[in-house]
Order: sequence, then structure tokens, then C-alpha cells
Amino acid sequence: MAHTTFKVGRLTCHALEGGRQHLDGGAMFGVVPKPLWQRRIAPDARNRIPLALRCLLVEHDDGLVLVDTGLGNKEDDRFKDIYGVVNDGANGRTRLEDALAELGHTPADVRWVINTHLHFDHAGGNTYRDAAGQVGVTFPQARYVVQQGELEFARHTNERTAASYRAPNFDSVSFTLVDGAAEPLPGIRCLPTPGHVPYHQSVLVESGGERACFLADLVPTSAHLPLPWIMGYDLEPLVTLESRRRLYARAQAEGWLLVFEHDADVVAGRLGRDGNAFGLVDPVRAG
Ligand SMILES: [Zn+2]
Repeated sequence: MAHTTFKVGRLTCHALEGGRQHLDGGAMFGVVPKPLWQRRIAPDARNRIPLALRCLLVEHDDGLVLVDTGLGNKEDDRFKDIYGVVNDGANGRTRLEDALAELGHTPADVRWVINTHLHFDHAGGNTYRDAAGQVGVTFPQARYVVQQGELEFARHTNERTAASYRAPNFDSVSFTLVDGAAEPLPGIRCLPTPGHVPYHQSVLVESGGERACFLADLVPTSAHLPLPWIMGYDLEPLVTLESRRRLYARAQAEGWLLVFEHDADVVAGRLGRDGNAFGLVDPVRAG
């Protein structure tokens, strides 16, 4: 199965498996020494660890809401080798589209797309490349939402940020921009969680007093739950630290379900303790 279904109050949600990428374990764990991180996620011969490309689909009264869009189909073989991308669809253009089809949906059924940020592994599926090489919008009936600051940041890259932002993923998209905390539709909230990039957002789903949070790159896998286990990719790691501290306080007080975009095994779980550090309880594993 390419999806895992759960309820948040009366909202039905699906974690959709969009395939895999494989990134350098050292870069993924920042200053954490390898003897510690390799106990949690074992690296391959190229020192890379497997990562999911998981998206969240919410069946909302206002239509289907998709949070992040995976990596898409526009990249060439060289790129896919470097990042260890495995996301070709069996029937659709990508595994994400296969997962949608498994639930009986086509890309045209999606009414809202919310991007947590515009890195290629989160927004690559915003658009697709057809057989003639033309780029089109993948979800033609959807309103695409992103932080205004993130769109500007993506359009003005420097030597450090350029590799992650690829213009075909966002140039041809007409975005609805939000600025800071926002509720683009009832019960779907954008929570600014800066650090990985300055305008990164997580997405909180609320219904009937229950809450689930799609963390995106604030906490990419459950192995990253301890506060200082921050990716080397993060542009402002000390800002990530404070974003986590703030979010964890609410997640604990309100019993949030935490959904992990990049964890190859664990789809979701709740915040608990692992000795003195934060850890995971009640894990939901990919099927
Ligand atoms: Zn990212």
C-alpha cells in the first residue's frame, strides 16, 4: 500500500508514499557523530541513508488538500543517481500519483496544495514534464499556497542555497501567498517553523479537538526528535532549535500526532521521552 490512513477528529487523512531519496547521513545529522546516528538509521556503502518522500492528503469539506508534492518527474538520470531518487510511477507520472490513484483520485481532484517550502524534494511535484519536454502544473484545479517570504527566498538564491531551489518547480505556478501564521481553510493551519530555511512552515490539521502536524523539515525523521539532532542542511540551526522547542511544548500539551515526511519506516507518532531526550511513542509504521 502506498498510503496510510488516519482520522483527525472527523477529517480523514492519508499519508501518501512518494518514493525514496538517499542522502548523505552526515549531512542529514549535522553535528551528531556517526557512531550515534548510524544506530538509528544504517547508512549504505556510499554513506547515504534512505528517506521517504511522504506527502499528506486531507479529505476536507472544501476539497482535497495536499501538503507537499514530492520530487516530481522532471529531473534527469544524473540528478536521480546523485540523490538516490526512486519515485517513478507504475501507472501515473510518479509514485505520488500512483498513491492518489490507489485512493481513487486523479491530480485534477486536488483543490489545495500547500508547500512547506520550495526545496526540490518538497515542491518538485508541483509541476511535471511531458513527453515533449514542456513543463505544466500537476494539479490544475488546485490553489497552491506557500509563504511569501519562501517564494522570494527561492527566487533569489546564493551559492549555498541554489542547489535546492530549482525554478521549474515554482516559476510557472500561480501561488496564493500567506505571510506568517495562517489558516488558509478551516482547520488547516500554516505554522511558521523557521530554521531549515527562514520561511519554512509546518502544517497543523485540527478537528474535534484532535490535532496532527506535518512537520516537514523541522524534524525530517523520528530519529531527529532530540532537540540538537538538527540537519547539516539547515541554514539557521539555532533557529531550528527554538522552533522545535516552541512546537514541542504545544505538541506535548495537546497530544499532537506528528507526521514525518522523510522517515523511511515511521509515518507518524506522538512525542515522548527517550531517556533525557525527546523521542517517539505510539509509532505508526508504513504498511
Ligand atoms: Zn528542505
